Amino acid sequence: MGIGRHRQGGNRIDHQALANAGKKLGVEYHLNSEVAKIHVENGKATGIRLADGTEIAAKQMVIGDIGNAQLFDRMLNPDLKTDEMQRRLDTNLYDRGHVWWGTMGVHELPDYKAAKNNPDINATPRTYWAPKDLAYMEDKYMHEIMLLGMASKFFCLSAPDSYWDPSRVPEGKHSVAFEDYTCPMHFHSRKEWRQMSDEFVEELLRQWVKYAPNMKKSNVIGYRVINPVDLQDTHPDMKGGCWSVGSMAGSQNGRFRGSPNNGFKTFIDNLYICSSAMFGGGGIARGSSYNCYKVIADDFGLRQPE
Ligand SMILES: Cc1cc2nc3c(=O)[nH]c(=O)nc-3n(C[C@H](O)[C@H](O)[C@H](O)COP(=O)(O)OP(=O)(O)OC[C@H]3O[C@@H](n4cnc5c(N)ncnc54)[C@H](O)[C@@H]3O)c2cc1C
Repeated sequence: MGIGRHRQGGNRIDHQALANAGKKLGVEYHLNSEVAKIHVENGKATGIRLADGTEIAAKQMVIGDIGNAQLFDRMLNPDLKTDEMQRRLDTNLYDRGHVWWGTMGVHELPDYKAAKNNPDINATPRTYWAPKDLAYMEDKYMHEIMLLGMASKFFCLSAPDSYWDPSRVPEGKHSVAFEDYTCPMHFHSRKEWRQMSDEFVEELLRQWVKYAPNMKKSNVIGYRVINPVDLQDTHPDMKGGCWSVGSMAGSQNGRFRGSPNNGFKTFIDNLYICSSAMFGGGGIARGSSYNCYKVIADDFGLRQPE
């Protein structure tokens, strides 16, 4: 997860630009509309049904930017899958990659002690701070996050977003993003996660200040932290709060990332999948949509990217 996302104005700007380009080409958008079903006739995807009952016919194809859990296990009629396809789907694990994530409004961006020797560090889009204790990271970190939901020594990503995009904050103020790993949502109750969220921020600041002395409580204007419950509730394919739409352990990556027939083109004609559930894995730069487009371009005689 080392790729920065620093567009002026944030991701919303990209979405609007893409949506506007689409509208010029006659694209019709259904915003905030849940897809409930993919229709298949004679082995071909023919359209979708929205949760509110609206039916939309597919003139050429259906492309799902969703995970295997929804596309294959929820939206398709179960009889379409063979036992072998279901076996492959059942090999998908969501047992790693659960995160605490948030943004903090601050008076000053973190000023790291390490900046004395490495002046660029305060501006680095993604900085990880962690104890210089490899034995802890190797033997104890995972143990603690799985058992307790947070580590006694954080391995924390911090991102001085407002350094790169001041349009996100009022003049003279700043925002910094933070992230650390945790366990799957079902390891704790919803009530426990709520309590732990406040504890997480307390602990975050207690540890951050050791690396960046100005990250005291008095520097914080406000924050929003999200936990695996929030992620699961808003992203059904990030099961249990798994940011990568399936574990990215070696045994779940590349050709081992289980999908019914190992491809962007599914076993149903004209049905494609282009999400992080595919071989490249989670992350906005893993190329799933790009690679999916190349397969579609082959099938429909469209222009291939150069
Ligand atoms: C907290 C967090 C931090 C992250 N940080 C980074 C990072 O720093 N760098 C990085 O590269 N990656 C990061 N990622 C991962 C990255 O955001 C994801 O890998 C990527 O967005 C997944 O892309 P996607 O197209 O598979 O799914 P998404 O971007 O989740 O898109 C799927 C879309 O489908 C919609 N949808 C889902 N189900 C339905 C349905 N039934 N009906 C209609 N619409 C539906 C969703 O609302 C969503 O808009 C982070 C993820 C999280 C959660």
